[in-house]
Amino acid sequence: MRLLFLSLTLVAALGLASEPDGAGLQPGKLPAKWMTGGPNCVTVPDWQVHEYNEDFYILRESGCIHYEKPFLYLIFGEDKALLEDTGAGEVQTAPFVMGLIEKWAKKKNRAPVPLIVIHSHGHGDHTAGDKQFQALPNVQFIAATPAELKKAAGITAWPTGPGQLDLGKRVIDVLPIPGHNDASIALYDRATGNLLTGDSLYPGRLYVSEAEVPTYAASAKRLADFAIERPIANVLGTHIEQARTPYTDYPRGTAHQPDEHVLELKRAHVLELNDAFQHMQGKTENVVLPDFAVVVRKVNAPASPSVQAGNGMGLQPGVLPGEWKTGGPDCLAVPEWQVHPYNEDFYILRESGCTHYEKPFLYLIFGRNKILLEDTGAGEIQTAPFVMDLIAKWAKRRKAAALPLVVIHSHAHGDHVAGDKQFQSLPNVQFIAAAPAEIQKAANIAHWPTNIGRIDLGGGRIVDVIPIPGHNDASIALYDRWTGNLLTGDSLYPGRLSLSEADLPAFTASAQRLVDFVSKEPVAHVLGTHVEQTATPYLDYPRGTLYQPAEHDLALSRAHVLELNQAFIQMNGHLRKVADSDFTVLPRAPRPAAAPAASPTN
Ligand SMILES: [Zn+2]
Ligand SMILES: [Zn+2]
Ligand SMILES: [Zn+2]
Repeated sequence: MRLLFLSLTLVAALGLASEPDGAGLQPGKLPAKWMTGGPNCVTVPDWQVHEYNEDFYILRESGCIHYEKPFLYLIFGEDKALLEDTGAGEVQTAPFVMGLIEKWAKKKNRAPVPLIVIHSHGHGDHTAGDKQFQALPNVQFIAATPAELKKAAGITAWPTGPGQLDLGKRVIDVLPIPGHNDASIALYDRATGNLLTGDSLYPGRLYVSEAEVPTYAASAKRLADFAIERPIANVLGTHIEQARTPYTDYPRGTAHQPDEHVLELKRAHVLELNDAFQHMQGKTENVVLPDFAVVVRKVNAPASPSVQAGNGMGLQPGVLPGEWKTGGPDCLAVPEWQVHPYNEDFYILRESGCTHYEKPFLYLIFGRNKILLEDTGAGEIQTAPFVMDLIAKWAKRRKAAALPLVVIHSHAHGDHVAGDKQFQSLPNVQFIAAAPAEIQKAANIAHWPTNIGRIDLGGGRIVDVIPIPGHNDASIALYDRWTGNLLTGDSLYPGRLSLSEADLPAFTASAQRLVDFVSKEPVAHVLGTHVEQTATPYLDYPRGTLYQPAEHDLALSRAHVLELNQAFIQMNGHLRKVADSDFTVLPRAPRPAAAPAASPTN
């Protein structure tokens, strides 16, 4: 009760508004899962239609018709509709799309609008239905060639200058991004903030022929420059070949993909694409990343029919939950701790929002000689008994003795160290205080913060300890080499990353060091210690929210490490708010002078 009162006081003092407000974008919903092809092709419809919102449809062709199972986009303005791509293989696209336009018009109580047909690029798996549309009245058909695109979108300089299509109170920017194909474009819908990237960026294998690498690299750079300047809700491409498991794709030709990656990528991935090409620098080896791969085709070698770019990089796989409990609506039904075994030796714990509104995540990693716990909770919570019980159960299942526990902290703020005393008084626990000197000693860090230390949990399980001061003097990231999970504490998570003016140089340098780290090591997931972001891009829950029924995924991707760094590059030494779709870098609000003497949180 006292706690609840305290946090409500804090909320009142700081204001209840969301910090980013949705960036003025029309919101929409994306499905957690799409139909692919099969297992029983009799029951799979030729087309799956998903209404992102009432004026933005996403169509997917069935993998039972063609293994490429492309995505098509249908966007409605006041005066015109725009279709991107016409399908793969032998499929009836035009009758289906015209039917959708009629239904849309009927629902809106108006006459159907004329259709513009455009293409992400000129390859056969995106143009198969072209003839069907060319034969129709009331259709403006733009062939997939640079000359036709220039004319239709008013592009004066190909490929540097963007053009526009006006659908009536809805403008679509047309960006030439040759590389995968000479007619490749991206489309940016200003209303939703969705960026359609065709085959140039999607969760799968981005093919480029050796000779086109410099062209693609230049396009990736222009696309990144464009994306940095605008709110990007989602980056939507035209295929999914990636599996949910990072660095893993389904081999070419796979029809049924029961565990495929989500369709949407983020602005962060546009930066990651650009970064990948910058690092290629004339080399033509494939670049395999968690959510996509750049696959270079030798000019004279035909593509292997069953190419697979990534095999998981040898990382121990694990599973993340689709959603976490937060706090409420009925606090009687919410347990104090939610435990999710990512796999049998890597647990994620979340404290209930009913116990403390910060509802932090803790991590418990099991080696063969030692166990590592990151953080000890927020508020008045029994952390040690719960964790020790988990360890006892883990040991019992393995028919082994309980191993010693090492306690470390993402940083020193009160919402991550509240259970410290409980652990300090226990036998068989090595307690590392959240202070640079203590961490340095325990993890053998020669020079703070520029060197990386390690904690050896035995059996080959090494956890790297990376000093990343900024949010707090004692902020660290932990990298688990077995799973490839990077734990980033309060320095990078889907929410408000706060720092004070004085900490800007340190945080800026830390963000760059994190980028240097992820450019060398495979990163499965980036896991922080809170979720404050909603599932809607650029929108967070106000500070102090207990119950978050539609919160953002806990996991960020390697790409977000690049995006964090980009935020600091944009600031250029001047601290200001930088809102990205999945997190916000936020100047720390000065504490009210008369604030109660609570321990600092966040
Ligand atoms: Zn394609
Ligand atoms: Zn925190
Ligand atoms: Zn903090």
